[in-house]
Amino acid sequence: MSLDYPDALTELIRQLARLPGVGQRSAERLALALLDWEEDRLRTLAEHIGALRQRIHPCVVCGNLADGDRCRVCADPRRDQGLLCVVEHSRQIPAIEKGGKFQGLYHVLGGRLAPLEQVEAEDLNLASLYARLTGDTVREVILATSPDIEGEATASYLAEELRGRFAGLVTRIALGVPVGSDLSYADSTTLGHAISSR
Ligand SMILES: [Zn+2]
Repeated sequence: MSLDYPDALTELIRQLARLPGVGQRSAERLALALLDWEEDRLRTLAEHIGALRQRIHPCVVCGNLADGDRCRVCADPRRDQGLLCVVEHSRQIPAIEKGGKFQGLYHVLGGRLAPLEQVEAEDLNLASLYARLTGDTVREVILATSPDIEGEATASYLAEELRGRFAGLVTRIALGVPVGSDLSYADSTTLGHAISSR
């Protein structure tokens, strides 16, 4: 930490450096850039950050990020109600959306089975998933958990659980994505392909 800055600036740099992908040098550059901003621009940024938790909530239907009750995908009547893509985290959805191939709905598990980290089935949003599968609206569930050991274990568990509860098709995302990769950061073309060639 540089000692050349006033305390308030040093503290801002420290906070910015906690963001993913922002190292000490970048944090310094960002803080110094902010120092050049007009007062009202700074206030607007601060308001957006301060209100983030009040404004953004999980969608009541699928768990995706939303600024109302329902996320943009769930609120869109053109989406195919019969296709449900199950992902670990809401941050994986934009990557799939950018691919532009998937027209169905999502369900966010909120994690994946990880016994070593004490993440068990009851910690995931499974009850709401099973509830969505009652009735005959959904005809296919696509398991798009990550292609690593825990993601695979979660997909196997779900495939087994769904066997008794769901009469439709259960598919696994085609593994065109590199094994061990985090789907949140997989490029959207690859993801689009993985979904359409499942
Ligand atoms: Zn939703």
